[in-house]
Amino acid sequence: MTGGAESSVFRAGEHAPVTPGWTCGTCGAEWPCGPKRRQLLAEYHVDRAMLSVYLGSCLAAATQDLHAPPGTCLQERFIGWLPRGRATT
Ligand SMILES: [Zn+2]
Repeated sequence: MTGGAESSVFRAGEHAPVTPGWTCGTCGAEWPCGPKRRQLLAEYHVDRAMLSVYLGSCLAAATQDLHAPPGTCLQERFIGWLPRGRATT
């Protein structure tokens, strides 16, 4: 256990994930919900690589929590929505 996961997303009204179901604690949609995706893009717009790392760790945790086999639609849900092709800010 490294405890390296950031806790900064767990703020009231911030569309934080509710485990183990991985639904949004604010709007109840599948996490990351639309508002959360926009928040993440705004929060990490200068460091898109870190956002990928963060979402990857969320995907790994959700895969375990939801007992989903790797490479399923969860990957699309957590990472597939990320804008691609531009590494510049
Ligand atoms: Zn939400």
